Amino acid sequence: MTDINRRTFIRAAGGVAALGATLGFPSLALGATRRVVVIGGGVGGATAAKYIRKLDASIAVTLIETKPSYTSCFMSNEVLSGERTLESLTFGYDGLRRYGVEVIRDTAVGIDPEKKSVKTAGGHSFDYDACVVSPGIGFKWETIEGYDEEVAAETVPHAWNAGPQTTLLRRQLEAMPEGGHVIIAAPPNPFKCPPGPYERASQIAMYCKHHKPRAKITILDPKDAFSKQGLYIEGWTKLYGYGTDNSMIEWVGAAGGGTIEELDPTTLTIQAEIEEFQGDVVNIIPPQKAGPIAFAADLVDGDWCPVDKRTFESQRHKDIYVLGDASSAAKMPKSAYAANSQAKVCAAAIIARFNGLEPGDPTFVNTCYSVVGEDFGISVAAVYGLNSHTNTIQPIPNSGGVSPANASPEIRKREVSYAHSWFKNVINDMLE
Ligand SMILES: Cc1cc2nc3c(=O)[nH]c(=O)nc-3n(C[C@H](O)[C@H](O)[C@H](O)COP(=O)(O)OP(=O)(O)OC[C@H]3O[C@@H](n4cnc5c(N)ncnc54)[C@H](O)[C@@H]3O)c2cc1C
Repeated sequence: MTDINRRTFIRAAGGVAALGATLGFPSLALGATRRVVVIGGGVGGATAAKYIRKLDASIAVTLIETKPSYTSCFMSNEVLSGERTLESLTFGYDGLRRYGVEVIRDTAVGIDPEKKSVKTAGGHSFDYDACVVSPGIGFKWETIEGYDEEVAAETVPHAWNAGPQTTLLRRQLEAMPEGGHVIIAAPPNPFKCPPGPYERASQIAMYCKHHKPRAKITILDPKDAFSKQGLYIEGWTKLYGYGTDNSMIEWVGAAGGGTIEELDPTTLTIQAEIEEFQGDVVNIIPPQKAGPIAFAADLVDGDWCPVDKRTFESQRHKDIYVLGDASSAAKMPKSAYAANSQAKVCAAAIIARFNGLEPGDPTFVNTCYSVVGEDFGISVAAVYGLNSHTNTIQPIPNSGGVSPANASPEIRKREVSYAHSWFKNVINDMLE
């Protein structure tokens, strides 16, 4: 590699912004074909697979994904309000195949870090030079008595992985009598999509406002504060009467006894810390941890996977990289945009290493939009840098913020269209 290419590349390895400038580079790999195996075709995995091939088409990339297509959680709360269908959130992997990614439908069940090989439920082995793991979340079922996978699938959906449970929850809302009571139990930190439970309450309120105007929605929360709280409350006050006797939404935080302990699925009764709550529709979003393969492959410390935040390489096993929700990447939230940003940094770092180069200092980005009601969108955005001394990701001061309080209707309306175009852009960036 010439000196100028070398310098440009090191910069690219360090940042999402610089990454785009390197696309179209000639092949950087030297010698034998390198192999990257990616586990999980969600935001982190699909983006990493695509960008590794875009940066260096000589690298053989195999993506192992359990499902035939990807159904995005982001925007799935809009299925609950009836604003969109689950089908509109479902995408195939042909776009990745066009980049030369080999897409295998199977489930990874183990990784041998010595032999550098991934084993699948289908009985196959895939050798790698680098392995990227982006399996998303798993649930801590043992934490709520009476709540398990079967109850979630049949009666009390979590709908926190978009799919059949999202459809079930929507049907339950449609079948609920006028004046019915919806309970949403939010999880403790950290969890996938910090503003998600509150966006969900908003989207359900948006539906009820038109179809069941006397309905009540109670959010039981084991926390004392939540993401974009001020903006949500502004929206709920304007749209759903929050703070009045007639409010459609009530939020019960930790101090008010919002931590739930037990569910009786036959009567849809929740025993919370102080009192009992009975609903017509109950949605429990359980406490979370990294997806099962992270545990099977010994990548976790506690519930999540510790990583070197310069590259997202596991701190437990060399040449394995963990991205997205499964990784410990505070202060970045567990979000689609964060996973997408981490995947590009990781892709560039893997290629740098294949070429004997040191990855540079990365920057990351996250924006999260929430649609609180008709023509009422809000957002939070940040650019993050690495503090390599503490191995932490920190927001760069003055690089982001939340949308203004008491913004004009025009701004709120514009944020809804930004939210929808952000969705198209992320899907396009990961899969097309
Ligand atoms: C209701 C809701 C709303 C949200 N809204 C937003 C939003 O507005 N903005 C935002 O940025 N984020 C949002 N998110 C969060 C976002 O969906 C996640 O943070 C993001 O999908 C994380 O990407 P990931 O790659 O870590 O995991 P995922 O996208 O969940 O992908 C994991 C993939 O790995 C596969 N997999 C798992 N284990 C294996 C295995 N062993 N073998 C093979 N395949 C496997 C799974 O099938 C899945 O396809 C929302 C989430 C929810 C629940």
